[in-house]
Amino acid sequence: MPLVDMKDMLQHAYRHGYAVGAFDLVSLDFLEGIMAAAERVRAPVILSLAESHFEYFDFELVMPAVEAAARRASVPVAIHLDHGGSLKSAMRAINLGCNGVMVDASHEPLSGNIQRTHAVVEMAHACGVPVEGELGYVPGIEGEDAELHPGEVSYTTPEEAKTYVEQTGVDFLAVSIGTVHGRMRGTPKLDFQRLEQINEALGIPLVIHGGTGLSDDQFRRLIANGVAKINYYTALSDVAAKQINENNRAGASSGFTALVKNIRTVVAAEAERCMRLWGGAGRADEVLSRCRPWMPVEHLIIYNVEGIDKVDAETMIAEGRRVLSTIPGVREVFTGAAVQDDAKYRYTWLVRFCHPAVIDSYRKHPDHVTFADTLFRPVAGERISIDYQAVDPVLAELLIIT
Ligand SMILES: [Zn+2]
Repeated sequence: MPLVDMKDMLQHAYRHGYAVGAFDLVSLDFLEGIMAAAERVRAPVILSLAESHFEYFDFELVMPAVEAAARRASVPVAIHLDHGGSLKSAMRAINLGCNGVMVDASHEPLSGNIQRTHAVVEMAHACGVPVEGELGYVPGIEGEDAELHPGEVSYTTPEEAKTYVEQTGVDFLAVSIGTVHGRMRGTPKLDFQRLEQINEALGIPLVIHGGTGLSDDQFRRLIANGVAKINYYTALSDVAAKQINENNRAGASSGFTALVKNIRTVVAAEAERCMRLWGGAGRADEVLSRCRPWMPVEHLIIYNVEGIDKVDAETMIAEGRRVLSTIPGVREVFTGAAVQDDAKYRYTWLVRFCHPAVIDSYRKHPDHVTFADTLFRPVAGERISIDYQAVDPVLAELLIIT
């Protein structure tokens, strides 16, 4: 259950003057370290997966582990796609379990950025998923991933930000006010006046990318001016790499496990330091009681076919599975046939939606309409259709308390 609605989570942080860490993970060691830190200091946390890192791990394989970590947690968690490059990648991330997505078209001119972002917002909101946009450009300077963000810094202006947010409908905005991806050269100078103006103009949670290298005081001022989500990766990568080098120097040449020993510990320590500094520590219970839990819906149909044989029925089912599983917000399509010969209903569809919003958007989706009208309904005579949501004991308990 501790997966929570990310919009609620960041609205809570925004209203109460703290920021949630969105830590990019690149391995299970990172995932465990970040979660250990959140549990230790009772902080809400965002598990972030950057598209640029998908060459280092298989997104589809890692997501079940990320979800399992969130579900067994006792602190509120959201799962976020970081720097998604296209509508397709945002859709895939949602169908694999992300409940927040970032669309990054910040390298495009304003009109192109608005157009691409709006398309993602439309799709994601129909799945109940909030969207982070980026306006202005946060370049990379040096270190981890810096080369993935080429070019010069472009600052966000309050006027453009207002237009962008109004026309795209994004829920959070990543702003460019002087940070860089990777490591800063020298002392970073941040434009706090600009940030203050953007915050006044927008009134939505703001996001900072390139948090590594900022001073404690700079973080405090960012948060005081509307920053409610801080993306953080380079420093975690640095402490992990340092640990591997130390293990190596200490003569741990005996193998892989010896070299990567204690990565979890150092990642956890750095993440914990951030959670305390950014004010998220100790907020877990408050967030859990104030934010909607993120709960899937099971769309169940049991039915009998008329006028076609078993082979034709199986062809229809296979086609349905293929078409329906690509609709935004569909986590899984299970199709089955009754085990007992005398079952009253012979066939079933069990379609898992990521969120109740998908009940409606799925029904109206052109691919669903076409399949249902031409292949399914003409042969599925007798049927029962119901949408289920889990009865969650933790939620029930919270409702009683509040
Ligand atoms: Zn970034």
